[in-house]
Amino acid sequence: MRYVSTRGQAPELTFEEAMLTGLARDGGLYVPETIPSFSVDDIAAMANLPYEEIAYRVMRPFVGDSFDDATFRAIIDRAYAGFKHDARAPLVQLNEGHFLMELFHGPTLAFKDFAMQLIGQLFQEALSRRGDRVTIVGATSGDTGSAAIEAFKGLDAVDVFILFPDGRVSEVQRRQMTTPSESNVRALALDGDFDDCQARLKDMFNDFEFRDGVKLAGVNSINWARVLAQVVYYFTAATALGTPHRKISFTVPTGNFGDIFAGYIARCMGLPIEQLVVATNQNDILHRCLTGQGYYKGETHPSISPSMDIQVSSNFERALYFAYDQDSAAVSHLMEELKTGGGFEVSQGALQALQEIYASGRVSEEETLAQIAATRAATGEIICPHTAIGVKVAEDHRTPGTPMVTLATAHPAKFPAAVEQATGVHPPLPPAMSNLYERPERVTRIANDLQTIETHIIEQIGT
Ligand SMILES: *Cc1c(COP(=O)(O)O)cnc(C)c1O
Repeated sequence: MRYVSTRGQAPELTFEEAMLTGLARDGGLYVPETIPSFSVDDIAAMANLPYEEIAYRVMRPFVGDSFDDATFRAIIDRAYAGFKHDARAPLVQLNEGHFLMELFHGPTLAFKDFAMQLIGQLFQEALSRRGDRVTIVGATSGDTGSAAIEAFKGLDAVDVFILFPDGRVSEVQRRQMTTPSESNVRALALDGDFDDCQARLKDMFNDFEFRDGVKLAGVNSINWARVLAQVVYYFTAATALGTPHRKISFTVPTGNFGDIFAGYIARCMGLPIEQLVVATNQNDILHRCLTGQGYYKGETHPSISPSMDIQVSSNFERALYFAYDQDSAAVSHLMEELKTGGGFEVSQGALQALQEIYASGRVSEEETLAQIAATRAATGEIICPHTAIGVKVAEDHRTPGTPMVTLATAHPAKFPAAVEQATGVHPPLPPAMSNLYERPERVTRIANDLQTIETHIIEQIGT
């Protein structure tokens, strides 16, 4: 299995190389050269298997020779052993045709743990085999950073620096990043918003001297191994609800387009997905683009669903690459327009291709709060604001006869203020995390300046 860059100018890599590299050297994102597919019988055979077994079957073809079968199985087992639910991604029914898939039973209470716990184990295995050491720098709107710090803390072949927008993550998110005491993980509070964090991260990857000097590796949602880990739960949910004998639809609270793009991969692999629905908050560049209004950056408006507060959605480049029939020159051109002109128009053909795969909806702040309250009233379930956005858009899109699954991307206790505002109930943290507010914090405030950040990292790791 080979991986190619969406911009066509970087070397082809193996799975392991693509994982350790993150962003391609031409600024593009790695995608598999071909996407393997399953027969109807292969999919039918997954029904009722344990999560780890389905994970193995779904991911194995993408890994190639990078890990042998037994090693890869052991990595998967270790990755999900710390989850607090045996089903890993359990389904909860909301009404006759609408289900929630709870993706928040991992150590940091958001779906990011599915990918990050796996990638931590994969990095550890690959680096110890190579006798190598890397510096991981990540940008986070809140959940990726805590998941990365949790997954990599204490690993001796890895230094981790997480940039988060100062003052724009929830207190639970911040504390999950600043309270682990292991010295190889560090939280950096950047004076800027999440797009600034992402932009500085990209700048670091494009500064080859720095990149090579510190052996920079990325675990942001652009890392192919993360997308791959997220493909698995589309299969577990679908087969639990009667696929391949009937179709299924998914609605995904979306920011950087990683989670929903994993659904597209599942569809390419043969999962009969009828609708794949992008749900956005008021930061709606994706909804505007998918409804034919071009892809133009606006300002980021902080919302009560901060993990979706983006204006540039990194993984959307992968969707464009496939919508443009894998034309890397066309993708490079669009990305140049985005950088220099702040946006681009999608060609008629590509827009049609995108609209055949993705539907979309946008939810306001008021509607988000109303949905949290409505879901509680109708079912007793307390959902987080991101999940509420998904549920609202899903209700607007679902069709009779096809089950709709909304991805519940975080535990409500991660966003207690919004939940309390909507319901009057303060959602308690699960017992394993109940002393989070008492643990000491460790954080460095840093300017939104590439040079300052790079110097800090070099000093900290002592190269
Ligand atoms: C990261 C995140 C999202 C957005 O996921 P993407 O893969 O970036 O589209 C949605 N909800 C929560 C809670 C998240 O942490």
